[in-house]
Amino acid sequence: MIKVEAVVVGAGVIGLAVARALALRNCQVLVLEKEGVIGSGTSSRNSEIIHAGLYYTPGSLKARLCVSGRHKLYQYCEQRRLAYRRCGKLVVATDANEDAYLVRLQQQANANGVEELELIGASRMKSLETQLRGTSALLCPHSGIIDSHSLMLSYQADAEAEGCMVAMRTPVMAGAFVGRTIQLCTGGPEPAELEADIAINSAGLDAWGLSSQMSGLDRRTIPPRYLAKGNYFTLQGARVPFHHLIYPVPEPGGLGIHLTLDLAGQARFGPDVEWVNEINYNVDPGRGRNFYTLIRRYWPELGDGSLMPAYSGIRPRTTGPHEKSADFMIQGPSETGHPGYIALYGIESPGLTASLAIGDWVAKLALG
Ligand SMILES: Cc1cc2nc3c(=O)[nH]c(=O)nc-3n(C[C@H](O)[C@H](O)[C@H](O)COP(=O)(O)OP(=O)(O)OC[C@H]3O[C@@H](n4cnc5c(N)ncnc54)[C@H](O)[C@@H]3O)c2cc1C
Repeated sequence: MIKVEAVVVGAGVIGLAVARALALRNCQVLVLEKEGVIGSGTSSRNSEIIHAGLYYTPGSLKARLCVSGRHKLYQYCEQRRLAYRRCGKLVVATDANEDAYLVRLQQQANANGVEELELIGASRMKSLETQLRGTSALLCPHSGIIDSHSLMLSYQADAEAEGCMVAMRTPVMAGAFVGRTIQLCTGGPEPAELEADIAINSAGLDAWGLSSQMSGLDRRTIPPRYLAKGNYFTLQGARVPFHHLIYPVPEPGGLGIHLTLDLAGQARFGPDVEWVNEINYNVDPGRGRNFYTLIRRYWPELGDGSLMPAYSGIRPRTTGPHEKSADFMIQGPSETGHPGYIALYGIESPGLTASLAIGDWVAKLALG
C-alpha cells in the first residue's frame, strides 16, 4: 500500500491548479490521470476565454471565483510570461428587449465587482467594429483569451517543482473511507493500492462516477448529472473583421453563439447548447444552419458556406434543460462527511478563468 498525504484525481486545469495550490502549501501530492496526456477532457474543449464575471449571480461561487480568479490569472500570466491577450468583449443587443437586458447585465456585473464596463450606442459600436450590427452593446475591456494547454503545463511545472508527482494512464477505479484515511485502487498498466489523508475528486465529467465508487460515501451527497454539449464551427476562407470577442445576449443554457478568437487569430463560433445523454464529441454539420441564423443577427455579412464543423465540449451540469444553470458545487469535509474527501461537481464555465481561485479554495478546505 503506497501512502501519500494527498491524491488529486484528474489532471485537467482544475486538478492541476488544486495540486499546485496544495504543493505550494508543503503538502505531499500525487495526481492520478486516466489518460496519457494532461488536459484531455473539458480543459482542451472550451472557448479559452478569460471571463470578466458578468453573468453569474452575485455572491455565488461562480461570481466570486471568476472575478478573483481572473485577477490572479492575468497576474500569473505576466509572472510566468504565458501568452494571453486582454482583447475585450462586446455583448451586443439587437432590439429594445435586449437593450433592457444589457442594462440589467451591467448592474449585475457591477455587483460582481467587474470594472470599467461601458454601455455604448450603435454609432460608438460601429466605430469599434465596423461590420457589427446592433442597437447597443456592453463593452467589457477585461475579457481576454489564453492558451489553456500552456497554462496547464505551467501549473504542472509549479506543482512538480514542489515535489508533486503526476501519474498518467492511472485511472482510479474504486475507493473507500477507512477511518480518517481514504484508500484508492488504480487500474492501468501498473495497478496499485494507495492510502491518502486527502483525496480531491476533480474528475470533471467523471466526478459523479468516481464518487459513486467510493465506499462509505453517503450517495445522497452526489447531485444529479446532466450533460450540455457545446458545438463549435470555425470560419473558413475569410478573415474575421473583428478585434473584440463578440457575444449576443445569452440563450437558455448557454452564453449564445459567440465569436472567439484564439491567440493565432483564428476565429470560431459557438458553443451552442445540445443536451445529451452520453459523452460523444462528434459535431453534427447540420447544426451549422442555426449558427448562420444566429450569427447574422449581429454579423449580417457572414458569407454562405464559410462555417466548418470544428470540435465540441461537454458542460458538466448539476441542473437540467429547464432549470437555471446551478453554481459550482465544491463539497468540503462537512458536505461529504469525511475529513479528507473533497468533491467538485458542475465545474463548467468559468472554470478555466477561476482555476487559480478554485485551487486556493480547495486547498484551504483540505488543509483547514
Ligand atoms: C463548451 C465549453 C466551453 C467553455 N469555455 C470556457 C471559457 O471560455 N472560459 C472558462 O473560463 N471556462 C470555460 N469552460 C469551462 C472549463 O473548460 C472547465 O471548467 C474546466 O476545463 C474544467 O476542468 P476540470 O479539470 O474540472 O475537468 P477536465 O478538464 O475534464 O479534467 C478532468 C480530468 O479527470 C480525468 N479523469 C476522469 N476520471 C478519472 C479517474 N477515474 N481517474 C483518473 N483520472 C480521471 C479525465 O481524464 C480528465 O483529464 C468551458 C466549458 C465547456 C464545456
